[in-house]
Amino acid sequence: MTQAIAAEVSGLLRGLGIAERHFIGGDLAVASPITGETIATVPQGAAADVTDVVARAQTAFTAWRRVPAPRRGELVRLLGEELRAHKDVLGRLVSLEVGKVVSEGLGEVQEMIDICDFAVGLSRQLYGLTIQSERPDHRLTEQWHPAGVVGIISAFNFPVAVWAWNAALALVCGDTIIWKPSEKAPLTALATHALLERALARFGAAPEGLAQVLMGGREVGGALVDDARVAIVSATGSTRMGRDVAQRVAARFGRSILELGGNNASIVTPSADLDLTLRAVAFGAMGTAGQRCTTLRRLMVHESVYDVLVPKLVRVYQTISVGSPIAGHALVGPLIDRASFEAMQDALAAAREAGGIVHGGERVDVNGDASFYARPALVEMPGQVGPVVDETFAPILYVMKYATLADAIALQNGVPQGLSSSIFATDLREVEQFLSAAGSDCGIANVNMGPSGAEIGGAFGGEKETGGGRESGSDAWRGYMRRQTNAINYGRSLPLAQGVTFDV
Ligand code: NAD
Repeated sequence: MTQAIAAEVSGLLRGLGIAERHFIGGDLAVASPITGETIATVPQGAAADVTDVVARAQTAFTAWRRVPAPRRGELVRLLGEELRAHKDVLGRLVSLEVGKVVSEGLGEVQEMIDICDFAVGLSRQLYGLTIQSERPDHRLTEQWHPAGVVGIISAFNFPVAVWAWNAALALVCGDTIIWKPSEKAPLTALATHALLERALARFGAAPEGLAQVLMGGREVGGALVDDARVAIVSATGSTRMGRDVAQRVAARFGRSILELGGNNASIVTPSADLDLTLRAVAFGAMGTAGQRCTTLRRLMVHESVYDVLVPKLVRVYQTISVGSPIAGHALVGPLIDRASFEAMQDALAAAREAGGIVHGGERVDVNGDASFYARPALVEMPGQVGPVVDETFAPILYVMKYATLADAIALQNGVPQGLSSSIFATDLREVEQFLSAAGSDCGIANVNMGPSGAEIGGAFGGEKETGGGRESGSDAWRGYMRRQTNAINYGRSLPLAQGVTFDV
């Protein structure tokens, strides 16, 4: 099985023209979570390489910022074409490298295509403002300029889509990009970069160093973070990583866009459509084996519907198919590695200790000892205690009972993270309370769906320990540019603002 995966990976990469360059003599071992065994090695960069890489990106920036934005959009349009043409290959690689079931691997590439389309349109917008001046014969405007070099640090669980959210916007905004992918997912990064190189070749005159990839772990990421020539660091990953990155970037007065951990909740109210709720909870909590930042991790169920919904949910947990993401029809694939499985077991032990009743959570033997498949766990909790306030990056759903909507919203907001949330209700007043200023404190608040599965059109990100960053749609592009205010005097006198006089 392992050999078959290695051979398939090698074939897919060779098909993209990158096997010879990147496969021989590598020193970063890549394991597929499908079997847990090494399927490839790739060369790893070192922190010392960062200096040269950033210098190239900086030189490229001086040229790229002068290319008209709609022309920059043409590059992203070509990238979108390459992604469309190679969606099956890249989607398959996502499944093989990080263990996503086939439709989710393909969905990840579709998300890349979608953000390219969005960015192409954006390249003819990037609107500024005209502002009324208080002075006669004066005009105030606000315009947006490219910001500089953007460092993109990405996590294993969306190994390529997160790059695309950042890269597509940064490129049309006139920035140059350096990608430090997850050390757990370098193959999909190489494949994605190869597709960008094809787009660049078709585009023609892009400056050398416009888009680069730096393989490696946190030391390499750290060198990028500390380099004052990197104007913006966009980092996606754990809150622990973000706390370190935020402080280091702030210490040099750089800008960071942080997309960190979530501990997402849904509230099931008495007026909820329970059939729809059941399906939404199943996908939200167990999809991607609980390894989405927006995975549903806490469920507050009103006491009047608890005994109807929760036994049904327990049955779904007992019967959901856990297995290889590339064989059969499993809906839940493997955890990324042993550490992830152990963190799941530790959290379940802590939940039991805190009075929780655990359904599921046991290891499932699919492909031998080196891979880690687990039955998703539903845990009935007496309250929001113990591991419930932490993000455990595994399929654990903590279920709690509530009496009033105010209590449920207080529970929903009572954790350090603030990424995504949702309510199941057909009572308009309860829906609107949840969406109001006194409702969910998260960056994303959904109605009659789970907290995961965002579309690229909206701004994506969350508050509190999720980091406050926004990526993807809406006006998230502003995070990749610098704002400039212009006051223009087209008269012959020099009136000062606020009536100040200064006659010389
Ligand atoms: P991780 O924090 O272990 O690693 C993420 C990336 O950061 C990797 O590329 C890693 O090499 C790098 N890194 C780690 N420490 C660093 C440091 N001190 N300086 C510079 N770089 C550093 O996360 P992971 O296990 O790959 O991903 C899972 C986590 O990511 C979860 O917490 C999940 O919620 C979060 N996530 C958040 C979002 C979001 O948009 N909010 C999206 C996907 C994943």
